[in-house]
Amino acid sequence: MKRGIHLSPRCFFCEEKAETVTHLFIHCRITLQLWEMFLSKKDLNWVMPRKIDQTLKIWSSYANLSDHKDRWKIIPACIWWAAWTERNLRCHQNKSNNIQKMKMKCVVLFHFWCKQEYREDLESSMDVLGLL
Ligand SMILES: [Zn+2]
Repeated sequence: MKRGIHLSPRCFFCEEKAETVTHLFIHCRITLQLWEMFLSKKDLNWVMPRKIDQTLKIWSSYANLSDHKDRWKIIPACIWWAAWTERNLRCHQNKSNNIQKMKMKCVVLFHFWCKQEYREDLESSMDVLGLL
């Protein structure tokens, strides 16, 4: 193993499990905190499905519970983009953000995409979470 090069197949977030797409995006205890940040805005009994396609299907079915269905549906993409960019930061630059900063980056991204998609004038990133 060369010095400074990460050759382990371990997850860059928890360093406990093998890094797979399923683990990184839906089952890792770090990524789960991003999901829970959004789920906590709704009174849902959410159990994370085993597979990503099931996650998207069930998540989309819950959009009817939201007053803003379209916003609800882009949340998985925000979580996955935030997780992927953080994963790459850790993998390629040997840097990392703590979970609070990861959450904030995810919310800011969600806010930005909502503004771009729906041309709404939301004052802050925290406002957009209240509109789910
Ligand atoms: Zn992990």
